[in-house]
Amino acid sequence: MTSRLIGRQAVVIGAGMAGLPAARVLADYFEHVTVLERDSLPQDTCHRSGTPQSKHVHGLLGGGQRALGNLFPAFEEDLVTAGAVQLRVGLDLRTEMPGYDPFPQRDLGWVSYSMSRPLIELVVRQRVAQYTNIALYPHCRVQRIEATPRGTAVAAVRFERSDGKNERLPADLVIDASGRGALALGLLASIGQPQPPKTIIEVDIGYATAIFAIPDDMSAGWKGVRTFAQAPQYSRGGLMLPLEGNCWMLTLGGRHADKPPGDGEGFLAYAQQLRTPTIYNAIKKAARVSDVARFGFPASAWRHFEQIEPFPRGLLPIGDTIYRFNPVYGQGMSVAAQEAVLLHQLLRTQVEEPDPLAGLASTFFASASALIETPWVVAAVPDFSYPQTKGHRPPDFERTREFGAALTRLAARDPDVHKLMVEVQALVKPRSLLRDPDLVARVRAEMTTA
Ligand SMILES: Cc1cc2nc3c(=O)[nH]c(=O)nc-3n(C[C@H](O)[C@H](O)[C@H](O)COP(=O)(O)OP(=O)(O)OC[C@H]3O[C@@H](n4cnc5c(N)ncnc54)[C@H](O)[C@@H]3O)c2cc1C
Repeated sequence: MTSRLIGRQAVVIGAGMAGLPAARVLADYFEHVTVLERDSLPQDTCHRSGTPQSKHVHGLLGGGQRALGNLFPAFEEDLVTAGAVQLRVGLDLRTEMPGYDPFPQRDLGWVSYSMSRPLIELVVRQRVAQYTNIALYPHCRVQRIEATPRGTAVAAVRFERSDGKNERLPADLVIDASGRGALALGLLASIGQPQPPKTIIEVDIGYATAIFAIPDDMSAGWKGVRTFAQAPQYSRGGLMLPLEGNCWMLTLGGRHADKPPGDGEGFLAYAQQLRTPTIYNAIKKAARVSDVARFGFPASAWRHFEQIEPFPRGLLPIGDTIYRFNPVYGQGMSVAAQEAVLLHQLLRTQVEEPDPLAGLASTFFASASALIETPWVVAAVPDFSYPQTKGHRPPDFERTREFGAALTRLAARDPDVHKLMVEVQALVKPRSLLRDPDLVARVRAEMTTA
């Protein structure tokens, strides 16, 4: 604990992958941090109904892994102890994309971890539970956030317990990490503020996922496989990652009229028609140990809370409440963890201010926008390569797409470029490094050759 406190009571709504890391950060600056979660909070890795997406592959990118390690020292050891599988980045995940089946497999020098979403959430929850000033309350559904009478600041949250009892909890700071944003938006509406504008990219993706036991005689030279689609003609792709308990989780995805079905036979037939046979060959004789779960994802969305001025003092939306990234690129949990690290950095300076909560949200939004921009652009460019994708196509879209394709060709030949490209995609390094003049000159030369 730091010696200076910002307030007595902070409330975090939602014990998901944004709420839990944020609660840990607030524990350094508030006497009490209360996390209100509508679901149960299991002691094991079973799924929760509040996070239906957790039945699908959830990759933790390097940037998110480092952010969680920053907040919870030795976090990676906890993951391994809980059963996560280590993957040498660049080597253990076979990546298949048009023109490269597979993309050159090289050890890029760091290790990532593969596990189910419930496992990673459980490990984070256990670390958060060690803080004596954080209380995790399951079965508490927040109904609304209340403002002060003048409507300039947050006053309290109203919530309902599982026995139907309603309670009011006064708070100095309320973090809306409920994922959908209805609560933060409701507060803004209640004080007469407009709703934040939204940037939307309509991708219309369908996911289907099943878990398979890894056959005993499996020896393939990879631990997981990613098969990219043949955009724009064909949107069918797959990602199969190892999980705790010697299993693979396979998520198949397609867009518009080519979404995967939810029955076992249809799932296998869909996998058989992926662009390459690698995934199908691996699973065709493996035992399926789960039902097939489906998920529809209509659109990526980014709510521009930064445009609401003045923003109510003591309200902070984070995680999916601000953005919903196309899940294909596996970014949401990692950006949420990076936002928590950002909040930690900001509170360290805000605590010196006479009123640390004044202006916290606007400072946070300014830096969070910079964090969100890289994953947003990384996803938007391939998404817009499908002509059916609806939304505001960036004006330099064609040029950016050609640059990306040339960078990929260069990366296939040059291990240093490969490493940098993956580090940017994994949110470990900023996208600005791809604008290094020497690199840009090489990529432009490659574009000319093509
Ligand atoms: C199909 C799919 C696959 C994905 N794959 C990946 C991936 O590979 N890698 C990755 O990083 N991200 C992935 N994501 C994104 C990731 O799931 C989210 O970005 C991440 O969960 C965001 O965390 P969050 O805490 O903001 O929201 P959530 O994790 O959704 O948590 C919100 C929490 O708030 C609770 N809650 C909601 N309303 C209330 C209320 N009124 N009162 C109390 N509690 C409430 C919910 O029960 C829930 O626990 C995927 C998403 C989808 C849809």
